[in-house]
Amino acid sequence: MVMFDIAIKNGFCYVNGSFKRLNIGITRSKIGYVGEESIKGDITIDGKNSLILPGLFNAHTHIAMALFRGYAEDMPLMDWLKSKIWRLEAHLTADDVYWGSLLGMIEMIKTGTTCFSDLYIHMDEVAKACGEIGMRGVLCYGMADRGDENRAKKELEIGERFIKKWNGEFNGRIKAVFGPHAPYTCSIEFLKMVRDKANELGVGIHIHVSETKEEVDNFHSIHSKNPVEKLDEVGFLKDDIVIAHGVWLNDREIDILSKKGISVVHNPVSNLKLASGIARVADMLKKGVNVCLGTDGAASNNTYNMFEEIKLTSLLQKVKTGKADAIHAIEAFDMATRNGYRAYKITGGEIREGYLADLILLDRKRFNFIPMYNPVYAIVYSTMGCEVTHSIVNGEIIMENGKILKIDESEVYERIEEIKEKFLSIN
Ligand SMILES: [Zn+2]
Repeated sequence: MVMFDIAIKNGFCYVNGSFKRLNIGITRSKIGYVGEESIKGDITIDGKNSLILPGLFNAHTHIAMALFRGYAEDMPLMDWLKSKIWRLEAHLTADDVYWGSLLGMIEMIKTGTTCFSDLYIHMDEVAKACGEIGMRGVLCYGMADRGDENRAKKELEIGERFIKKWNGEFNGRIKAVFGPHAPYTCSIEFLKMVRDKANELGVGIHIHVSETKEEVDNFHSIHSKNPVEKLDEVGFLKDDIVIAHGVWLNDREIDILSKKGISVVHNPVSNLKLASGIARVADMLKKGVNVCLGTDGAASNNTYNMFEEIKLTSLLQKVKTGKADAIHAIEAFDMATRNGYRAYKITGGEIREGYLADLILLDRKRFNFIPMYNPVYAIVYSTMGCEVTHSIVNGEIIMENGKILKIDESEVYERIEEIKEKFLSIN
């Protein structure tokens, strides 16, 4: 009998779109065995009452914005940013970002996310927090030159320094990429510089594109083209790019994304909350675009619960297309797992031998799972997130029976209360 570091026995496992009772053996960071033969492990997990899933991938977020959730609501976007969010961000310290990131990560782990892609400021703190808590992260410093040449150079330097410092850290759990904020905050010249640097360093690029209609109309009035068409024309687009949102894309742009192998992160809750619109997800999937899912920052969500995004993705496309079968449950779930890992070229997101051991266990005896005719439908349409009992990332158990193992949760909550007091005193 083969020995593994961790053996998960007799669980109901999601493999290739359906559930089977299987054993999973984990050796170091990877899945070493998936099958029906009996296995042994230094650590054994009884999976009898569990659904075992590949971990969820939150493919677009600003994790430390957990600090701002619920600070101001129900305001028009620009008013909300200018009078509320940007004012708080002006008082945001590196230390705040560290604690805010831990808070966001606790929520992500507890609701089944094993990997996230983050674009923000004070990113050293995000990387540190990610290393400590045990998650996998694709991280980038959010750069914007706003047409200023000196600023462009400085921003690129910070982005490059971050990549060189963190890429591959924590046994490969951190992947560092470039994060130019968006085509409306970054000049075309700057984006070309980022493209060249990304080629030189062999790293990817994460960028917001076409989130609101207003932003696309403004871009068009300056460049006489939509953003994706313009970015293609200047040679910015390659298959190492992940675009967040893509709510307002025309047919030509969807064709370009498909041809160039570019991934799109759909953020349905954020798009609804900021009244940005409903992305053409069903159209993109039909054209072969790799679409994955994200929460965006907690200020525009207000949670990091990916199960909400999965369900809403499916529901919104039904309404948008007028077809109840616009997106099938399996497609919606794969978008939150396999497609996220694919977007960032990480070999994970599936329960398969040789893939990274990023897995979650859900208690299948929960009231909202009863009766369970088809576990795929239970996962997509009835899960609330609190069913997640265990999280394994890179072959290491980071949550067991709902308890985060590597940090002290209560200390995080205490520090967040102090930061809240500081924010409340700003007027
Ligand atoms: Zn965003």
